[in-house]
Amino acid sequence: MEASEGIKNVKCEVVTPEGLVLDEHAQMVVIPGEVGEIGVLPRHAPIVTNTIVGEVRVKTMDGKMKHLAVGNGYAKMQYDRLMLLVDTAEKAEDIDIDRAEEAIKRAEKWLDQCHEAGVDCYRAQQSRNRAKNRLRVAGKA
Ligand code: ATP
Repeated sequence: MEASEGIKNVKCEVVTPEGLVLDEHAQMVVIPGEVGEIGVLPRHAPIVTNTIVGEVRVKTMDGKMKHLAVGNGYAKMQYDRLMLLVDTAEKAEDIDIDRAEEAIKRAEKWLDQCHEAGVDCYRAQQSRNRAKNRLRVAGKA
């Protein structure tokens, strides 16, 4: 019998530079990969991949869904363990909607001035993307 055969769940850890945001045994986890979402089930093949700004969905052992907004990062799946190491992560219910709306307004002001010297349009686009993602995920709390 292979070592992985008895594995019936995925232990999912979401880690940021500030600490552990989620540590959960799950039936399934969906992560935002660069070329689309990646569904991770127990006994998934080992992977290391980068992940992008998006949503992480975790189907818990009692069948509930948890939603997180994440920034860029990496995922590593090995045996029964999925480790997501990301710049930022917020559970849907912890997202500050006013703050995200303010971030979008600020980014759009910068984007209106994109033609001017010294304005970092890429940074403004990234900021708007993060904030829009947070609003999308907050709607699922
Ligand atoms: P802001 O301009 O509002 O700081 P940002 O996109 O620049 O937004 P980040 O650098 O991605 O912020 O994140 C900095 C920290 O603030 C992280 O810990 C992140 O989880 C948290 N954070 C950012 N926006 C929100 C939000 N709307 N709700 C809850 N936490 C947030």
